[in-house]
Amino acid sequence: METFSKGSRWMVGRESNLKVWHSNWTSKGPLRNMIQGPLTWEANQLEIREFLVDTGWDWSKIPFELPLDIKQVIQATPISLTGRGKDVLAWSESPQGKFDLKSAYKLAEGFDAESKFESKWIWKADMLPRIKYFLWQCAHNSIGVKACLARRGVVEEVNCPICQEEAETLLHALRDCSRVRLVWRKLGVKRIHCAAFPRALTHKSIQRIRWERPLGGWKKLNTNSSVIESSGMAGCRGVVRDEEGIWIASFTRRIGVTASFEAELWGLKDGLMLCSNLNISSLVVELDAKAIVDALLNADYVNNAISLILDDCRLLMTRFSRLQVNHCY
Ligand SMILES: [Zn+2]
Repeated sequence: METFSKGSRWMVGRESNLKVWHSNWTSKGPLRNMIQGPLTWEANQLEIREFLVDTGWDWSKIPFELPLDIKQVIQATPISLTGRGKDVLAWSESPQGKFDLKSAYKLAEGFDAESKFESKWIWKADMLPRIKYFLWQCAHNSIGVKACLARRGVVEEVNCPICQEEAETLLHALRDCSRVRLVWRKLGVKRIHCAAFPRALTHKSIQRIRWERPLGGWKKLNTNSSVIESSGMAGCRGVVRDEEGIWIASFTRRIGVTASFEAELWGLKDGLMLCSNLNISSLVVELDAKAIVDALLNADYVNNAISLILDDCRLLMTRFSRLQVNHCY
């Protein structure tokens, strides 16, 4: 039972009657555990719906100065724009929000999902930000390869779609697949060294990822996000361009403390909102993270930590007369 309450979390609805301090509704658990000292009776009783306003959060409802780290956790907690009025309880350890024994077991064993993989060097490396972000995702095993998607419950089949010989793990997709090896060989790479730390960071990458024009009459939205590992602070940004590649609009957002998957979704939501406000009718959306594209297409994501932003994204997507969502490499 203790494990169950530890692993479940409330998804806040518009008419929430959860308590700000005592209900488990943020990614860090009940906020009461994060603050010290006594609370006044009124503060103790404060409900989320009193604290929630259209533009976000009414900080004046908190009768004391809230520590910045708590503010950042609250800020990054998604609240549905439209739909759901009621609070929903979700199992926060699985992507679909459904209870599963495996993640419960890990939780009971004190297994930390964010392993202590040392990957701060990535941010200091002299590389294009996009490549840093890719490496960071690799380091956290969160690239949308089959094995990873299966772990998140998105797919069941884990075999490599190219060779069909082995499970498509990250290493298989990047190094071990027989077809991938051929590519490396053609590029003149004889051995690939895999380690938590790079041996040397001497090569500068000069290759730019190509941006392709959308068809005539279409606009294109590109979004991406990043999370600073040491602090967990996440941000997202996006840019809208026309068929000539000319800048139309862009945005950036400091999300607060959240995971990379959520950060990508925040970016998508902001981007769709921007394009909708610009009255764009035909839109191509290009996303970095394949897992997000899969999640958008997977109707099973109904009741979990990301479903609120997913729902908003899906709703916003209906505002365009023509919409295409692509995964770009
Ligand atoms: Zn393969």
